[in-house]
Amino acid sequence: MPQPPARYRGRFAPSPTGPLHFGSLVAAAASYVDARAAGGEWLVRMEDLDRPREQPGAARSILAALAALGLEPDGEVLFQSRREGAYRQALARLAAAGATYPCGCTRKELADSALAAPDGSLVYPGTCRDGLAPGKLARAVRVRVGDAVVAFDDAVQGRIVSDLARDVGDFVVLRADGLFAYQLAVVVDDAEQGITDVVRGADLLDSTPRQIFLQRLLGLPTPRYAHVPVALNARGEKLSKQTLAAPVDLTRPATALVAALAFLGQGPPAGLARAEPRTVLDWAVAHWSRAAIPHARALAAPEL
Ligand code: GLU
Repeated sequence: MPQPPARYRGRFAPSPTGPLHFGSLVAAAASYVDARAAGGEWLVRMEDLDRPREQPGAARSILAALAALGLEPDGEVLFQSRREGAYRQALARLAAAGATYPCGCTRKELADSALAAPDGSLVYPGTCRDGLAPGKLARAVRVRVGDAVVAFDDAVQGRIVSDLARDVGDFVVLRADGLFAYQLAVVVDDAEQGITDVVRGADLLDSTPRQIFLQRLLGLPTPRYAHVPVALNARGEKLSKQTLAAPVDLTRPATALVAALAFLGQGPPAGLARAEPRTVLDWAVAHWSRAAIPHARALAAPEL
């Protein structure tokens, strides 16, 4: 007998590289409201795997910001820094299936040898695919993409098709610095948390085919995806720690939420900014329209 569809479960998965800014608020609000509008659950996962990029105190500050905005997760926050064992197991399964190989290429060799993908990014040319050249030491572990073509229907961005060999090449699952790659960790954790719907920024759209590919290799379910536009600053750069995005002003949480909902095409009444954050979120859940989200990969952030 066919199983009833699993209950909707969404998530917000920030990296603690700095305080919550408008761009991350958009992803948090979109994933939260989409989950609640579907009668589902919403989880938070702290992606604190990349210790060198972490800013001390950022994880705590992001969680405090979510609380001040009324974005309360269902259940405990999952910290990736405590999940090494699960990633190690997944990597071992990929290796046992013959899907991975050690790569000894240095950064410089990669830059010199890489091919250009259609979007201008670099594609690994497969230098170490058939074994390490004599004298080369294993640095990273890559997964073979073979001739895989991954297609999926994104709820906002439409049909996405990626020929992995052309678009990324064999990609890293264990980094040269010994850290598990984001692509592997996210797939293991989305499955562990039972995520049915991933709503996140369109800067990650190009990662999704790699994630679906890994889900298939590992026998894990593929969630539905919705990639919302990324917020750009006045110089056309993605808001991020690197581009010095301002933290969300938590003295006016409702104003920030209303701005995020406007950015997402939801047309919130301006007066809502004077309400409590809870009221803003209730309005958003009651009026949520996926169809109203602009079908763009990036949009200018409002002046706040
Ligand atoms: N941690 C990633 C980021 O902050 C997001 C990962 C995801 O949503 O899949 O960019």
